[in-house]
Amino acid sequence: MRAAVLYGRKDLKVVEIPDRTRTAEEVKIRVEKVGICGTDVLVYEGVYESNIPIVLGHEFAGVVDEVGEEVKDLKPGDRVTAGGSWACGKCRACRTGKPIFCTDRQSMGRKLNGAMAEFVYVPRQVVYKLPGNVDMDNAQSFIPIACASHAVRKAKITAGQSAIVFGSGHSALIILQVLKTYGADKVVVVGGSRASRLRAAVELGADEVIGRSDLDIASLAAMEPDVVVEASGATSAFKNAVEVVKPGGTVVVYSIYKSPIEKFDATKLYSKEISIVGSKGGRGDYDSAVNILANESISVAPLISHTFNLSDIAEAFSAISNKDKNMFRVVINPKK
Ligand SMILES: [Zn+2]
Ligand SMILES: [Zn+2]
Repeated sequence: MRAAVLYGRKDLKVVEIPDRTRTAEEVKIRVEKVGICGTDVLVYEGVYESNIPIVLGHEFAGVVDEVGEEVKDLKPGDRVTAGGSWACGKCRACRTGKPIFCTDRQSMGRKLNGAMAEFVYVPRQVVYKLPGNVDMDNAQSFIPIACASHAVRKAKITAGQSAIVFGSGHSALIILQVLKTYGADKVVVVGGSRASRLRAAVELGADEVIGRSDLDIASLAAMEPDVVVEASGATSAFKNAVEVVKPGGTVVVYSIYKSPIEKFDATKLYSKEISIVGSKGGRGDYDSAVNILANESISVAPLISHTFNLSDIAEAFSAISNKDKNMFRVVINPKK
């Protein structure tokens, strides 16, 4: 089968690799669409370690091709997607019934061959069946949708509340839509300098969008947001989030910061009685993500800037790695 194999730092080639036999618990999936996530780019750049040579990719949707003997509830032709990693089943935590603390998580595209290929093999435990109406372009963002659902549930948003999202990347604009799905009344997106992303935010339901140059902390605070989700990754945005959230409100940290946050005034926690919660991954929210996709309550299509054929994948990674401003969510079609 054809697959995009990473051989070393920024050394990505599409090659024929031998197909392998599946185990009794595995599902062999023909990949229809696979998105390029920030993690894939960090693996490509060698920032994150991986088991090279390795097939990249973990955010995908496809159609079941074969199922193992132990898999009774899926059949060839079923439309599916999957979580990108799973517990090893062998480490001490796994053996003592606490897979949540697994020290050797099996991650597609880093430890095991991933989905940027014609076929991918995934254990049944992380495969999710999709209803027939779900579009594959939406479904390739299944993992970011689950992660957004996790973040919004941690924010404990209730119907009629207001929220601010810092960030206008793919994840931030999915969070915007999931906030609306969970009942947020007014959602404001504070983006960067790319006008196209702010336009996408409006198209996807933002009540107001604010570019970096128009940022006015006092007017954001006057909005008294119940929830602020910090999804931009800028340490200044974290401080702004704490500044603008209403007294008693919640700030959700949905970012990995490149440096510690200096001169943070923790007295704000005391004086405003706010909660700061972190949200990592989509654990516990995969079923919610299937429902969100099934109800067509969010749309990913406006976030997809490019669809590349598998044969041109090196060009796609190179452009993203070089911070090409036209690139937003980039999707790979493994069939071509
Ligand atoms: Zn990812
Ligand atoms: Zn384990």
